[in-house]
Amino acid sequence: MTAPIFVSHGSPTLLFDDVPARDFLVALGKSLPRPKAILVVSAHWETGIPAVNAVVVNETIHDFGGFPQILFDQRYPAPGDAGLARRVATLIEAAGIPASIDNERGLDHGAWVPLKLMYPDADIPVLQLSVQPRLGPAHHYRLGEALRPLADEGVLTLGSGSFTHDLRSVDWRGPNTAPDWVTQFADWVNAALAEGRIEDLLNYRKLAPHAARNHPTEEHFLPLFVALGAGGLRAASLHQSLTFSVLRMDAFEFAA
Ligand code: ZN
Repeated sequence: MTAPIFVSHGSPTLLFDDVPARDFLVALGKSLPRPKAILVVSAHWETGIPAVNAVVVNETIHDFGGFPQILFDQRYPAPGDAGLARRVATLIEAAGIPASIDNERGLDHGAWVPLKLMYPDADIPVLQLSVQPRLGPAHHYRLGEALRPLADEGVLTLGSGSFTHDLRSVDWRGPNTAPDWVTQFADWVNAALAEGRIEDLLNYRKLAPHAARNHPTEEHFLPLFVALGAGGLRAASLHQSLTFSVLRMDAFEFAA
């Protein structure tokens, strides 16, 4: 079984930043059983209904601005897998959720930044699945449930977002101690995940302390719910750290 995983991708500069989250992703790629293919649910592809890409080779999308040229020079030309894309769309539709296939789109930085650290050779087929920010956590949990069979087929479902994501409060030069409103939210979600409190998690915006402050918009939190739905109900914490004062970089595995 290839257990679904959620990772926080942080800033595009994570590729070169000397931080624990970078070292974690490098080690994670080496420690996991090699998947047959990877389905990345990235916060940076937003659509009205779930879309999965089907391409021969993924283009590298540099969907950011104001960063050093070296980031724009990065490429991650992983192959796609059109047959698996059809399978993913079929699984989603079988759950009563409409789905579409996109024959153009490559990989955005929510996908290729963590993948370049985990699997630098870009030799494993990669597909992306979009998020639907207007449809909320329960929809994304159901979307994950629809994808459950993939774990037994050697496909890694990889949610890629950010455990906390208030970009207005980012401090590029530290300090690397979080304010209370970040820590309290992160502690609440960590506990709810460890205890398998699915209903609480689906209602995190009402129940978790400082939820809206940590996620002014939801798109970076939604990939967590897809991984949660795709895997087991109890999450194993794989990593906890902080970058830029307020971005928690936590990661989880959802084994059955
Ligand atoms: Zn992001």
